[in-house]
Amino acid sequence: MIRIYNTLSKRKEEFIPLEEGKVRMYVCGPTVYNLIHIGNARPMIFFDTVRRYFEYRGYEVNFVSNFTDVDDKIIKKAIEEGVPAEEISQRYIAECKKDMEGMNIRPATTHPLATQEIDGMLDMISTLVEKGYAYEVNGTVYYRTRRFADYGKLSHKNLDELQGGNRALLVSGEDEKEDPLDFVLWKPKKEGEPYWTSPWSDGRPGWHIECSVMSKKYLGEQIDIHGGGEDLIFPHHENEIAQSEACSGKEFVRYWMHNAFLNIDNHKMSKSLGNFFTVREISEKYDLQVLRFFMLSAHYRSPLNFSADLMESSKNALERILTAADNLHFIAEHAVRGTLNEEESAKLEEAGKFVAQFEAAMDDDFNTADAIAAVFDLVKYANTNASEDSGSLFASSLLAELQRLCDILGIITERKEELLDEEIENLIAERTAARKAKNFARADEIRAQLLEKGIILEDTREGVKWKRA
Ligand code: AMP
Ligand code: ZN
Repeated sequence: MIRIYNTLSKRKEEFIPLEEGKVRMYVCGPTVYNLIHIGNARPMIFFDTVRRYFEYRGYEVNFVSNFTDVDDKIIKKAIEEGVPAEEISQRYIAECKKDMEGMNIRPATTHPLATQEIDGMLDMISTLVEKGYAYEVNGTVYYRTRRFADYGKLSHKNLDELQGGNRALLVSGEDEKEDPLDFVLWKPKKEGEPYWTSPWSDGRPGWHIECSVMSKKYLGEQIDIHGGGEDLIFPHHENEIAQSEACSGKEFVRYWMHNAFLNIDNHKMSKSLGNFFTVREISEKYDLQVLRFFMLSAHYRSPLNFSADLMESSKNALERILTAADNLHFIAEHAVRGTLNEEESAKLEEAGKFVAQFEAAMDDDFNTADAIAAVFDLVKYANTNASEDSGSLFASSLLAELQRLCDILGIITERKEELLDEEIENLIAERTAARKAKNFARADEIRAQLLEKGIILEDTREGVKWKRA
């Protein structure tokens, strides 16, 4: 039985799917105006792991995660660069997908784009207007928040508290709203912005309506799980509930899941503080598996602190798993005996307890920290019990068990041959030094070694440039 902490009820609940054997899951994706940062990577890695675990448990998972490709920040960047907004979003979607691949995050079943779903948004907004949940003023459509009786049920706030908070946020031009709590569903374009025609104005949708519409289109009016970072609880997810439930008259989501934040050196990560890392920057120094492992080493509802020390210990911990896998692989290949002896059969049966331990941890609200502890118990067991005298079936069975558990966490136990940027730079520096010392044989050797790994060098007047083939 899988138990999930539901933000809605503030307790762990048994997971009962809407449809037997199936999971319908939606996770809010990034706004694509820049390379993703390591904070964005936390929900991506975690929910990919949730999906993998459900699949391991035999569920068919329909997993939808959007890209928000129309937004003020994208438009601002497009204006700065003097290119169409679409060029910016397409570029960063492609970059995001590269980072996802590096972190071994599987593509979702569907990655819808907000700009491709405008018709659905126009439909939902029209329904809300017809039902009296929305109204238009000067081309802007607002949601009539107080009409929705359950507003605040997810963030556990009452309307008057919210109103107090919102009043402080009131910005000019918003005095046309009936109520400070009302939020935007559709807004008219400003000069030079991308727009779509609508019954209300040439304009574009608000952010919240996107997810209600994409979730409905690809998963149906009711879904099992909706996830994202905890900053999205209010107002984004609260507003999604208001839109979807007012429209369908049904409960929108059964289980709301939210990951806690990733901080850097115990400070909130922010661009203005300059304590900010993109996933791409991390990939120059580490295999992104290390980042994945690091993220899963804490429970998703605990804040996680990113630091160089913690990355180093994650790297070492991961290395222990890879070494154990290497050893098992070596024994399986070189063992004299193929079959299991009696002692080995008993030991394999005993090793089954690590699988049970792993499953119990994951069943308990996806406790990846405890699941990793189970993997290490298995590693320790393999290290003490498999040796040169073991049979190949014993070693390969332990290896298969280790790989199965690691695969649920998205950890690949085979070593990658690929060189990191830093390793490449070091080899190039060594080659330059060799050439200066007129050791051309060594310099050529390094060039050949890099080429074998798909790295092409180009000697230019400004120095050596390199690229991946
Ligand atoms: P955004 O592009 O800001 O809409 O964020 C995309 C996803 O990343 C959302 O689910 C956010 O909650 C999540 N997120 C952003 N910053 C962090 C962070 N520092 N730690 C954890 N999750 C984050
Ligand atoms: Zn969303």
